[in-house]
Amino acid sequence: MPPLTSSGLIYLDYNSTTPCAPEVVETMTPYLRVFFGNPSNAHSAGRVASEAIERARSEVAALVDVAPSDILFTSGATEANNIAILGLAIGDAQRRKVVVSSIEHASVLGPATYLAKQGFDVKSLPVLENGVVDLELAEKVVDSQTLLVSVQAANNETGVVQPISELAQLAHRKGALLHSDAAQAVGKIEWSPNELGVDLASFSGHKIYGPKGTGALFVATNQIRASIRPIYFGGGQERNLRPGTQNVPAIVGFGRACQLSSELLTAESERTSSLRDSFEAELTRGIPDAWVNGGTAVRLPGTISLTIPGLEADMLQANLTRV
Ligand code: PMP
Repeated sequence: MPPLTSSGLIYLDYNSTTPCAPEVVETMTPYLRVFFGNPSNAHSAGRVASEAIERARSEVAALVDVAPSDILFTSGATEANNIAILGLAIGDAQRRKVVVSSIEHASVLGPATYLAKQGFDVKSLPVLENGVVDLELAEKVVDSQTLLVSVQAANNETGVVQPISELAQLAHRKGALLHSDAAQAVGKIEWSPNELGVDLASFSGHKIYGPKGTGALFVATNQIRASIRPIYFGGGQERNLRPGTQNVPAIVGFGRACQLSSELLTAESERTSSLRDSFEAELTRGIPDAWVNGGTAVRLPGTISLTIPGLEADMLQANLTRV
């Protein structure tokens, strides 16, 4: 899909958010205007809404090749991260250690900091110069006291893809669970939690041409789900872990966005990686001092992160044309 342009600005900040695809808007609209029922109601208006949610659950599950019953809808990756990390930590009295990478999103670092204040042993895993988590150090830091290791699937700034399969194996060897914030990876690269051995994963709708305010938490087994304590209380929706009337139009749109991502993933990944390579080559030719952050690591196809010595990122942004 082409970048959104308005008033001469070429919008490239797609890791921050994307516009809704026209197909997504089209799929959502009837659920705003006509099929507005509450999915928890047993009457026909409610059933139409709950059936739409279940269809969307299957569409999200299909993108990451998991069972629909392992997907819980949330308001986004932020909420999924909080439910996973806080819910697990509150639910376990024995293991009191949590390990997170140093480059996590604030919605992982925040709960981790909160847990540290509650007396948990929280350890930060640094990344190597290429932006990849230090696996050798992880082997030492993750121990028999560790409840959870949380490492993102791909970084929002550098696009560096993390060795999640290795981290899952490492965590499991020590009896810990592996959570991965996959907000930036799903829909851009082939990424399946079951294939990688991931226990919990977080997804976001608005990074893949879906609406804002929707996402999902994947939980691999009933046993793990049972060990997550609810951090919200209400009407029991989403297996008690995310109660509150579901945002049906947004969920339907998220499902459609996942369908589109599945269909377009290969072609889009080839298209964006070749655009990225030529843009990077052009930039580094024009600015010989510049270098690509994470340039030697496996990266998301459509992400560029450059260091230009002497140039502050904030200054550069402030001088870009405004919409
Ligand atoms: N994790 C990562 C890696 C992200 O890039 C973002 C979005 N900036 C989030 C979590 C938060 O996602 P959401 O906006 O769906 O809450």
